[in-house]
Amino acid sequence: MSLQNNFILNVSDLRKYFNIKEGTVKAVDGVSFSVKYGETLALVGESGSGKTTTGHLIMGFYTPDGGQLTYKDSYDLSVPIKRRSLELKRDLQIVFQDPGTSLNPKHMVKDIVGLPLRIHRVTDKRELHSKVAELLEFVGLSEEFLFKYPQELGGGEKQLVAIARALAPNPSFLILDESTSALDVSSQAKVLNTLNKIQRERNLSYLLITHDLGVVRNIAHRVLIMYLGKVYEEAPTEEFFRKPLHPYTQMLLSSIPALSKEDESVKPKGIESIGEIPSALNPPKGCRFHTRCPFAKPICSEREPPDILADKEHVVRCWLYE
Ligand code: SF4
Repeated sequence: MSLQNNFILNVSDLRKYFNIKEGTVKAVDGVSFSVKYGETLALVGESGSGKTTTGHLIMGFYTPDGGQLTYKDSYDLSVPIKRRSLELKRDLQIVFQDPGTSLNPKHMVKDIVGLPLRIHRVTDKRELHSKVAELLEFVGLSEEFLFKYPQELGGGEKQLVAIARALAPNPSFLILDESTSALDVSSQAKVLNTLNKIQRERNLSYLLITHDLGVVRNIAHRVLIMYLGKVYEEAPTEEFFRKPLHPYTQMLLSSIPALSKEDESVKPKGIESIGEIPSALNPPKGCRFHTRCPFAKPICSEREPPDILADKEHVVRCWLYE
């Protein structure tokens, strides 16, 4: 589902299979997409959709079993992280879901944020303190946080420290791996506002990995829907919410609570969330969603639907639109 060139990241026919005792789990199975410079692309799906594995393949935590991962037109990201150049490691950073476990409880904030500055030689020793303070200020934390330990911070403050640490090596690309899922509503709003501000000021590209469509609406420019290791719909955010085409997308949207009458009026009608996501071990043949789809036809369980261009930048993979 790649629609244009000149992107910071191009993912083509990406595959990652895990062999377990019971067989092979095709966690990512022929995924293609691209991320533009300075945009936020949301990768959305339920647990088991392959969205997190996709993010971890981009980071080099896993090695792909097939496909291409091309960064800035010249770097091959299928190389595992330990074999990547320091420059490439610096340029791609990740913010994890749980800041409580990703921050070392024995280190003060100044050391947590200062470590990548030292590793990547972003600044010399004399300026380390002021550079860390500057990064904290950039994410909305005052200098008094320098000498605090993670356990003295609230959930939102911890995540802002994790973001400051990710920004320290001055990256171009940030993967946000469910980065606001563990936060309460007001902390989530603060972190999302900060991420929006950072992107505007630094022209960063984000890959947002999430199951939360409220977060998608607040921050993403485009949305990609994944289900059992495959992409089933891709659209600009506004169009995604206004005119969702894939029955699975409609099911996801119909299951989120509406905040206003206006939201309620645009929610897809008559698509109930039915059944559980099947196992990625032996996924259904044809369209992988056919076991839960109220519109399934005989062809759906026999052949994989093709990519159909429904509108500019709006692609859907479903036999209904053939
Ligand atoms: Fe439903 Fe068939 Fe479309 Fe799959 S291809 S979403 S089963 S109608």
